[in-house]
Amino acid sequence: MREDKDSSNNDFAILCLELDRFQEIKYILGNDFSNKVLMATFQRLQKWLSKKNIIAHFGLEKFLILFDNTSGQKAIAKAELLKQIFNLPFNIEGSIIRSSISIGIVYSQIDGKTAEELVQAADQALYHAKEQGKGQIALFEPIMEYSAKERLHLEIDLQKAIKCQELVLHYQPIVSLKNDLIVGFEALVRWEHPTKGLLSPDKFIPLAEETGLIIPLGKWVLTEACKRIAIWQQQFPQLGKLQMSVNLSGIQLYDPALISYIDNLLPRLKENLKLEITETVFLEKTLETQAILKKIKAQNIQIAIDDFGIGYSCLNSLSILPVDILKIDRCFVNPSSLDSKNAELVKYIIDLAHNLNLKVVAEGVETQEQVNWLSSLGCEYGQGYFFSRPLEPQAVFALLTEQVKLVNNLEKGKKEKGERVL
Ligand code: C2E
Ligand code: CA
Ligand code: CA
Repeated sequence: MREDKDSSNNDFAILCLELDRFQEIKYILGNDFSNKVLMATFQRLQKWLSKKNIIAHFGLEKFLILFDNTSGQKAIAKAELLKQIFNLPFNIEGSIIRSSISIGIVYSQIDGKTAEELVQAADQALYHAKEQGKGQIALFEPIMEYSAKERLHLEIDLQKAIKCQELVLHYQPIVSLKNDLIVGFEALVRWEHPTKGLLSPDKFIPLAEETGLIIPLGKWVLTEACKRIAIWQQQFPQLGKLQMSVNLSGIQLYDPALISYIDNLLPRLKENLKLEITETVFLEKTLETQAILKKIKAQNIQIAIDDFGIGYSCLNSLSILPVDILKIDRCFVNPSSLDSKNAELVKYIIDLAHNLNLKVVAEGVETQEQVNWLSSLGCEYGQGYFFSRPLEPQAVFALLTEQVKLVNNLEKGKKEKGERVL
């Protein structure tokens, strides 16, 4: 805990913590005593944390801690350690006080938030941690910004949205790093909310998962994405087989009706389908997961491990589970992470994937420099703002029209040189 040199990038985490029994202590033992408990909490934090960690008193009874150079798992590990430190009781003027702590965490990687908003986000995460009971840790998710009442309204609205076609899919190209040609798309759902505007999936997928609405929502996404790729395939036969990747949440994966639903999709529709499943889903139930994935693959559908590297990378599962593609999470690829440690890690992940006969997609590619670096490591595919943001179908049509011209020119050039055409 004292040494804090996790990495040399600019990521940081803010932890917001509170003693679980503080209100009770204050109510029963009074203000003076509870102030002493607060002081003892502060001193304990000071004792255990490095001098570089900034600790601040926040609100009446909370503390904020800034962990520099800390991202992902490191922040959770530190929060776990803090929890243990507070397992020891306090001795306040001879009175023994026992209390656990609850912790909310936010990472700096949450897009577009000011410092003040990040502090609020850590506080919201703390609120959610406390809702789950004592001694809990919660990571901030955008859905936490909604109050309980708003969440209820949102749930009712989401039910309607699925029925009333308020959901739309945007498609982000996946590009071959060998020749810059589009090989497929990832379907990303958005909600055209009648009053709130276009909502990103982070604002409603967690709610859909909590309420089970992810099942009808996921079915709609699957069918719509399959129909769309079938249309493009028909419109652009010159481009060869284009793939469509669809995100599948863990709840969908373990839904007993999933296999028959996929089974019933027209063969023509599912021909080009890939399913993306985040690595954390694979953590448990390995045998059950293996059986489900085998059934999916028996229908000629490929499986990608999504966001690889940010969860508890289950290297063991990688060799057991029948997966085809590994998607390296964007936090390893984006500019703030381009230090030598991260570069080594990405190289290791790509080599590991290749040894297991998996293809690699790098997510969050934003610069030419990253393209060059990933290509030099043998990474097959890239996805990210450098190539294109997620697009509406009409914009994809324009992009594919351009690609046809490009392919025609390439073929013409090859013919002139007497080389074999595609
Ligand atoms: P994901 O599967 O990791 O999708 C990639 C996300 O990264 C997308 O955010 C995309 O817009 C964003 N992105 C792509 N390239 C870049 C880049 O270069 N830089 C940066 N900073 N970001 C980039 P989006 O569309 O907001 O989706 C967020 C997440 O929501 C997805 O993460 C996925 O986990 C979930 N999601 C989206 N659609 C569905 C769906 O239909 N079903 C399920 N279950 N989850 C979905
Ligand atoms: Ca994905
Ligand atoms: Ca991803």
